[in-house]
This record gives sequence, C-alpha cells and structure tokens, in this order.
Amino acid sequence: MHLNYPYLFSNVIYINATDTMYIYKQAGMRNKGGYYPFYLAKNLKEKMKFVVISDTHTRHDLLELPVGDVLLHAGDVTNIGFRTDVIHFLEWFESQPFRYKIFIAGNHDFFFEKHSREEINSLIPPGIIYLNDSGVTIEHIPIWGSPITPWFYHWAFNRHRGEAIQKHWNLIPPNTRILMTHGPAYQILDRTKGGDHTGCKDLLQVVQKINPEVHVFGHIHEAYGQTSIGGTTFINASVLDERYRLKNSPLTFEL
Ligand SMILES: [Zn+2]
Repeated sequence: MHLNYPYLFSNVIYINATDTMYIYKQAGMRNKGGYYPFYLAKNLKEKMKFVVISDTHTRHDLLELPVGDVLLHAGDVTNIGFRTDVIHFLEWFESQPFRYKIFIAGNHDFFFEKHSREEINSLIPPGIIYLNDSGVTIEHIPIWGSPITPWFYHWAFNRHRGEAIQKHWNLIPPNTRILMTHGPAYQILDRTKGGDHTGCKDLLQVVQKINPEVHVFGHIHEAYGQTSIGGTTFINASVLDERYRLKNSPLTFEL
C-alpha cells in the first residue's frame, strides 16, 4: 500500500504510516511483488507525541500514561520534598517508556531548592532531563523549564511578583517552542476554587512576547485543562484535584 510520504532521499520511498516505516529502494527491489524493508527508522519529519503530567505529589504510581515519545512533568513531584520521595519519583520516572523524560520542580519540591546542583545531579539518572531556569533542545525543539512561582507563604522557588520574578522570566530564550513552568500565567487556567486568578502577570507578558507553541504547567490543581490562545496551546496538567485525589488524565500534544 502506497501512502503519500515526502521523499527524503531520491532513491527511497516511504511507505506505511505507522510509527515506524519500511523504506525500500525504487530501483531493483520490487521484482518479487513485495517491498523489501532494508531500513526501519523513525521518520524525522514525523511529529513527536508529548505526554504531560503535573502535580503528582508522590502519587505517580496511580497513573496510567498513554504511549508517547516525550514525557513532561511540570513540577510538584513530592509533598514537602523528602529525599526518599524524590528518589521514588525519579525511579518511577526513569522506568517510563519514553524516549525523552523531562521534569521541573514545583513549590512543594524543597529538596531541589535546598541542595546543590551537584547533589541533585548525583541523584538524577542519565535518562532524565531536569530543568531549572534552563533549557534543552530535543530533535530541534527548544524547551525551557522553570520551577518559579509567585510568592505564597514561603514555599519552594517562590519569588515576589514584579522585578524579583521577572528576572527569571527574562531568562526564557525567545526561540522557545515548549515552555514548562510550575505555575500558570495570569488568567489562563489559573482560577482557584475560591475564584481567584492566581497566575503570574509578569509571566503572561513574557509568554505573549515569546509566543511559544505550547506552555505546560500545573500548580492550580482545580484549573486542570487545555486551551489555545493566540497561537499558544496552554496545558494545565495537574493530575490530582485540590484534595490531592487522582482525578485527571495526562494530557497530550504533538509537535
Ligand atoms: Zn500541586
């Protein structure tokens, strides 16, 4: 069965539209009536599927994750950042069958704020990417991650609104295609049960300026969901409800 795939090489045709594809040479390889798969590869032009979760608060074991290429976790892997909880999370995260696994910390993850980069790195398995006001590019997709949230009773990675928090948002590179922050931008999936919009206005300004294709976050559990505004898909991937019960499914997007 032939499907319309673009030619990547002049002598190669792509057939079969599933995750992997059989590739055969046009010349001299069809005389027995079948195709001769000599090469099995992920089409680099295919989109990658991202699975997004956030705010698992030690309850990651309860999740059923859909199949995908990249797993993103937008912070709050623990309740108050016990080392044992961090280690359990990292073991679970590492064991998930994704090509790339990327996470940031959240306001509950004191461990990541209190310990040095060296100590944190010594715990993180090689298959996991941890971002802290830093970025990574996977398959040409620049991703930036930050654990910072607006100040709220001295939780981890809290900064006062205005200049103190802007310093962090100013680090986000303009070419960012996927932005991961623990907290939402102002008025975008940031509404608490009490009706307050607790998102960050300073972050909103930067997001509007940079215009990433996707902004993933969590933090406000009750504002779980997905919406598109001005070319950006916003994903609040909190899987627990405001009483820390598993309620919401992981969300996905392709890029
Ligand atoms: Zn949380």
